Amino acid sequence: LSVFDKVEQGPPDAVFGIVDRFNKATAEWKALPTSDPKAADEFKPINIIVGAYRDENGKPWVLPTVRQIEKEMAEDPALEHEYLPITGLKTFIPAAQKLMFGEEKPTFASVQVLSGTGAIYTGFSFLKNHVNCTKVIGPTPTWPNHPSCAKTAGLEYGSYPYYDNAKNSIVWDQLIESLEKAEANTVVLLHACAHNPTGMDPTNAQWEQLADLFTKRATTSPLIPFFDCAYQGYASGDVEKDAFAVRLFTSRGLPVIVAHSFSKSMGLYGERCGCLHIACSSADAVKRVTSQLSIFIRATYSNPPGHGAKIATKLLSEPAKYDSWLKDLNVMTARLHAMRTKLREGLEKAQKESGAASVQNRDWTHITTQTGMFSFTGLTKDECAYMEKEHKVFLTPNGRISIAGLNDSNVERVAKCMIDSII
Ligand code: PLP
Repeated sequence: LSVFDKVEQGPPDAVFGIVDRFNKATAEWKALPTSDPKAADEFKPINIIVGAYRDENGKPWVLPTVRQIEKEMAEDPALEHEYLPITGLKTFIPAAQKLMFGEEKPTFASVQVLSGTGAIYTGFSFLKNHVNCTKVIGPTPTWPNHPSCAKTAGLEYGSYPYYDNAKNSIVWDQLIESLEKAEANTVVLLHACAHNPTGMDPTNAQWEQLADLFTKRATTSPLIPFFDCAYQGYASGDVEKDAFAVRLFTSRGLPVIVAHSFSKSMGLYGERCGCLHIACSSADAVKRVTSQLSIFIRATYSNPPGHGAKIATKLLSEPAKYDSWLKDLNVMTARLHAMRTKLREGLEKAQKESGAASVQNRDWTHITTQTGMFSFTGLTKDECAYMEKEHKVFLTPNGRISIAGLNDSNVERVAKCMIDSII
């Protein structure tokens, strides 16, 4: 008998657990004899679960700019696979800072970390260990890994109201009221753009109002704005516009922290490329903060991976590559935009054709007003379960669908199944 035998089974991950069910259903579908009517394409399981871009054929897409850089790297005799420094590739840091904060050189302690998730965990651990923070609050709903990262870093996790699922809108007054009441030194998790899962961001005027709230509290009972920036370029299609909130809070001199991911914007998911930025007000503070981050990184994974950071640095520093990347970003956002329109049209058509009185007044405007990778459809948990069981369309139980998983061959079917699930 081993001492490990009594370890309890943990619950499956909220997202990857559904992917496992999708993979199983796909394997079963593929194993069907061609004579079985269920082997037809219209019964093929559909994955609209994960937030990873897919092309019009449902396949992962390596950005052409990234592909070109990888070719150049492969032919470069100077390319090696040595360890990076603990805080990451030296040339990557200023390139990531410029993308996030623009031309102005703010005083930030920035380190290359294991993508967005690594930045969130490293940032939370830093706040717990060096700033005496005890609590993070995040929007309801949010990405399920936020509470998990906070708890693993030893912080309490709470929430603030963000979204009304029935009305498909941000509950702004409740949000403001809740943040006005939050205890001093609370870490407030904010989605910089393309809010996951709702796809609804505050307007620029609302961000100004929020920055006013943080500024007003700054000297008496400060809050710490922690931006999760996982979708820069995905909300508006413009990396500068999507940096609005982060740059606004930074310009106010607030103690901004940013978890900056390159997974989605450059399609570098598995390369774990990201940056953690922590605002300081002196070069000396930058040095001290960086020293503590280095100690943490050295003891957890020693140093970050090189491949993705080398790609990102080339892409951000060579003007022709940068321009070509902006075009790639536009290909992705334009396709997502087109899919939103087709899904909404499909829903409106399917609800009319269904003839069911219960769905005739259903409004689908939010499908096209939401931005980013996801749509928060408004489907209930039971409706999502029905979609999976009856139609083999897999989505998360909060009604979120990944627009990137839609394409011309499946969007109409998804729309019909959605209407069928609510009748
Ligand atoms: N934050 C949000 C809101 C996300 O949706 C994701 C990925 O799905 C991440 C952070 C982190 O992604 P990664 O660790 O791949 O950068």
